[in-house]
Amino acid sequence: MTRSFNPVYSGRPESIFPTMSKLARKVDAINLGQGFPDEDGPSEIRNIAAQAILEGPNQYVPVEGTPDLREAVARDNKRFYGLDIDPMTETLVVSGATEGLAAAFQGLLVPGDEAVLLAPFYESYAPQIEAAGGVLRIVDLEPPSWRLDADALEAAITEKTKLIVVNTPHNPLGKVMSMAELEIVADAARRHDLFVVCDEVYERLVFDGERHTPLMTLPGMRDRVLRIGSAGKTFSLTGFRIGYVTASAPLITAIMKAHTHLAYTSPGPLEAAVAAGLNLGDDYFDAFVADMQKKRDLLASGLAAAGLETMPCEGTYFITVDIRSVGGDDDVAFCKEITEKAKVAAVPISAFYHPSQTGAPRNYARFCFCKRPEVLEEASRRLKAYFTGA
Ligand code: PMP
Ligand code: GLN
Repeated sequence: MTRSFNPVYSGRPESIFPTMSKLARKVDAINLGQGFPDEDGPSEIRNIAAQAILEGPNQYVPVEGTPDLREAVARDNKRFYGLDIDPMTETLVVSGATEGLAAAFQGLLVPGDEAVLLAPFYESYAPQIEAAGGVLRIVDLEPPSWRLDADALEAAITEKTKLIVVNTPHNPLGKVMSMAELEIVADAARRHDLFVVCDEVYERLVFDGERHTPLMTLPGMRDRVLRIGSAGKTFSLTGFRIGYVTASAPLITAIMKAHTHLAYTSPGPLEAAVAAGLNLGDDYFDAFVADMQKKRDLLASGLAAAGLETMPCEGTYFITVDIRSVGGDDDVAFCKEITEKAKVAAVPISAFYHPSQTGAPRNYARFCFCKRPEVLEEASRRLKAYFTGA
């Protein structure tokens, strides 16, 4: 064959997550690279899934998702954010947030439309937008505050801009957007008549007594924002591949049509289980965030003891370090080195920039802390021994 492949995908390196996970397995390192919990989510949810698989039905569910789960998503919006959502027209169940994002971009963008990303950004956005024919306009968040600058956002918006992608709490930075930053986005969206794709998969993981604020709750945002959540993150069940989108009815219809031809439906038995998950009491959600906050503090102190300077982590299950604190100046080489030699894997922050952004910072690495305390302690011991000899 002499025909070429689609360079949007074939021209990209392999995703950093499987790359680092494979290396970690090969050298038997503790994997704090790819983000996934090492303990599965609530047994009540898994029991319902098992029961639903055994008792069925196990056939196609409605394209939009099961009524039970859509009602649970609508109730969740009311319970946590006071949003009044019509379950049957304003929610959509998707096969993980990843598929929801792809459906959103395919449903909204036509070739030549511009989409604004705030860098660093989750790695799926760029190829998904480019595969839909969208043109990226990238706004860099500047370290160490990584704060969104209103003028920088404004400068990236043109006549052709159709949407902005916002991720809060933020992977990889662990940053939660302030109200002032949300207002910058809302103001730009209102003035330029833009959609905003809000990746809120870490909505239940905001620490230190703070709460997540969806951009959708700000004035004028209800009809132009779509928010995406993930059962993978909210219930530590990343393998379930169940996500959910909340948006106004016309947006949901547009995205549902793309979803129909991407995934068609998501697994019905797992949807039943996730519906039960969303209906769990405050005790689950409170314990989940408290437990993850303890893990954050445990790893942060372990990294500090190893001489690694940590950046603030307000949400998600990721913490970023400045590798210059241990003499590093190349994040990719650093992550490879600690995986192979200290036997602890992390991921380089430069992987969260577009491949064309050759000036991306190279001095940050991300560690994932959704692991059992003894695993975090052992990782900390290994890093301390490696960097300090102690
Ligand atoms: N967005 C962000 C910011 C993520 O970190 C992830 C996955 N870790 C996803 C989307 C994809 O979520 P899912 O596993 O539900 O597809
Ligand atoms: N989102 C997870 C992370 O940032 C990984 C998901 C994946 O491997 N696609 O680590």
